[in-house]
Amino acid sequence: MLLADVAVPVPLGRPFSYGVPPALEGRLSAGMRVLCEFGPKKTLCVVLDVSDREPAFDKAKLKSIAAIVDDEPVLMPELLGFLRELAAYYLAPIGEVLRMALPALERTQVRALREQGESVSNLKGRTVGKREITTVRLVDSASRKALPKGKLRGRAVEILEHLSTCPETSVPRLEQRWKGARAAVKRLALLGLVELGKREVPSSPFFAEAVDRDVPPALTPSQEAATRAIGDAISGARPESFLLFGVTGSGKTEVYLRAIAACLAAGKGALVLVPEIALTPQLVGRFRARFGDDVAVIHSGLTEKERHLMWRRLRSGVVRVAIGARSALFAPVQRVGLIVVDEEHDGSFKQEEGARYHARDMGILRAHRAGAVAVLGSATPSLETEMLCQQGKLTKLELPERAHAAAVLPRVELVDLKRIGPGPSGHPLLSLPLHRAIDQTLEAREQTILFLNRRGFAPSVLCGACGAIVRCKLCSVALTFHRQGRGKLLCHYCDYSRSMSDECPECHRKTLILEGLGTEKLETAVAEAFPNARVARLDRDVASGAKAEAVLERVRSGEVDILVGTQMVTKGHDLPRVTLVGVINADAALSMPDFRASERAFQILVQVAGRAGRSDRPGTVLIQTRDPEHPAIAFASRHDVRAFIERELADRRELMYPPFARLALVRLDGTEEDRTRRLALELFRAASATTAAQTGEVRVVGPAPAPLARLRGRYRFQVLLRARERRALRSSLLALVPLRDRLGGQNRIVIDVDPVQMM
Ligand code: ADP
Ligand code: ZN
Repeated sequence: MLLADVAVPVPLGRPFSYGVPPALEGRLSAGMRVLCEFGPKKTLCVVLDVSDREPAFDKAKLKSIAAIVDDEPVLMPELLGFLRELAAYYLAPIGEVLRMALPALERTQVRALREQGESVSNLKGRTVGKREITTVRLVDSASRKALPKGKLRGRAVEILEHLSTCPETSVPRLEQRWKGARAAVKRLALLGLVELGKREVPSSPFFAEAVDRDVPPALTPSQEAATRAIGDAISGARPESFLLFGVTGSGKTEVYLRAIAACLAAGKGALVLVPEIALTPQLVGRFRARFGDDVAVIHSGLTEKERHLMWRRLRSGVVRVAIGARSALFAPVQRVGLIVVDEEHDGSFKQEEGARYHARDMGILRAHRAGAVAVLGSATPSLETEMLCQQGKLTKLELPERAHAAAVLPRVELVDLKRIGPGPSGHPLLSLPLHRAIDQTLEAREQTILFLNRRGFAPSVLCGACGAIVRCKLCSVALTFHRQGRGKLLCHYCDYSRSMSDECPECHRKTLILEGLGTEKLETAVAEAFPNARVARLDRDVASGAKAEAVLERVRSGEVDILVGTQMVTKGHDLPRVTLVGVINADAALSMPDFRASERAFQILVQVAGRAGRSDRPGTVLIQTRDPEHPAIAFASRHDVRAFIERELADRRELMYPPFARLALVRLDGTEEDRTRRLALELFRAASATTAAQTGEVRVVGPAPAPLARLRGRYRFQVLLRARERRALRSSLLALVPLRDRLGGQNRIVIDVDPVQMM
């Protein structure tokens, strides 16, 4: 008999078998959504498989699928197969994984179900309707010569001229530029000069402004070579994977653009993944300038409706290029021929909740399964990626120089804070050399970026009398003082906040002092030290998404002399007038309890330094540190990525850490400390009892309190599994899955394969 395996798109969803009623035979295929009876209710499920076989249990108990929701699979075979492999790799519940790729239900679908008499009450909340705009395009024959002279004036002529430079635009977009464009377009349409159409569009900040088409620049020789290698793989349909190793400003994006063009020319689609904070209107603008507005932008800020629209335009093949942050990995790009992962070393590609996948690793997997080409790009490749190159699994393509002929890598100077004192401001973190350099930059009417990876005013508040630190009520971390508004203490892990008091929570004396330096305070200190400079700040507190872009726009247009900020100032922005970059405290990133601390610090330093001198003016970078000999700092100051990687690889090999070993972090948390600790011990014993652990193929370390021992009121313990071989590690982890799935009540087990966040 015909059976369907279905999964419920919820965490912990396991596949179940259902019968296929005769009426649905031939209409049902994998990747479709269906309604199935679950207890008293009907639930939305996804079909994983349809096969002719006998049920493994009593036939009489077999339930049948109640109704089909989609006419065609929402998850095409390529995507469904990929999702199943991803779920298996991370030992994640298939339902949880499917959920990440499913579109919302359309209201018309809900209506159709209702007409079949199905109750759809439990489907509310994730349904969407439609919204359309009018598109405008020039009629092919409407060349300039054929213009009916005298009949058209002003706006209409300008609009006509504009249309001859772009393939298609929309009335709302024209209205932005020409008031009354709507009426002018109507006239043009009556004269038969333009064609109108209807299209659903997203109202996204990424499409708020019109972008003119660009003219592709002549490639540099190394861009040319990289483009050829990637293009050959695409046109030859060879599923090869590449690392584009290019210094900051070397024009990696241009190589991606060419690769996408080659991909489109071969009749295939392309997917581009970038770190969330690099996904700016400016970056998207570069893709729109090359490929027009038929580019899908996918990010966490989309509304359900916008997301669905993007999804539909990709699924139908109308749009063939998708660009987005981590979750765009699941975009239904048709006939995917290219997957680009820019800044592949970036930690934000790892999802840290639910199914903990790594979008870079899975990008390679999806490309591989689809016979597509993968291109990872970075100025500071991760050690994992370097290892894949050494193993011959990735082909390395290099862009050793900056793309602008005159742009050279900036000169880097280390300022040893142990030996060099403060400048005239007296502030210990504005050293004399940094102060002087800022002065000179101001004088030359150029711009400065000051990087400090700590937001807020003071990172901690402590008691001058008893030394107690003011901590979060829910987490084992210090609260950060933010001065903005009336001033408050904020937890950067759980967002708990309380008002600032001047009384010590332990000894109740009024002796609290602010300790350390955050961007908020740095901004103030810099404004005081340089009263004539225009200072701006960029961090999560003042700006996110479109607002961050507004700050950067002010920098670009020369309204800002000194930009103070966190990591947000380091990513991919092209700010040609920035000639000085100051790293306020390079040591902060090195002190993290994480085997990747050094690698991460190095990457940040190189990225920040890369902001300086991106066009014809030479740049300078000052790195303030108390540990100038630390390899991460010393190699970064020489732009010596290769030497750093070599040295770091040697360390990792010796300590048997990735990429020389496979790790899995099994975390257990709960609200009661003792109970959670006891369970952690049980977990450890279960892991140690597995065959692979017994034979020594897998080493089990723990149980130990996590470095972040308490988070959001939950006590956290962890057990680390380590192996040379993935297979061995996997077999041990599989033995822990039932334990995880059985665990009820207040405790929770999370299995994190290839962990990034070790806290
Ligand atoms: P990366 O991503 O490698 O840091 P970008 O792609 O941002 O570098 O390029 C840096 C700058 O160089 C950009 O302003 C870009 O427009 C410019 N650029 C890229 N390729 C070329 C080229 N072949 N000729 C001239 N300018 C180029
Ligand atoms: Zn907290």
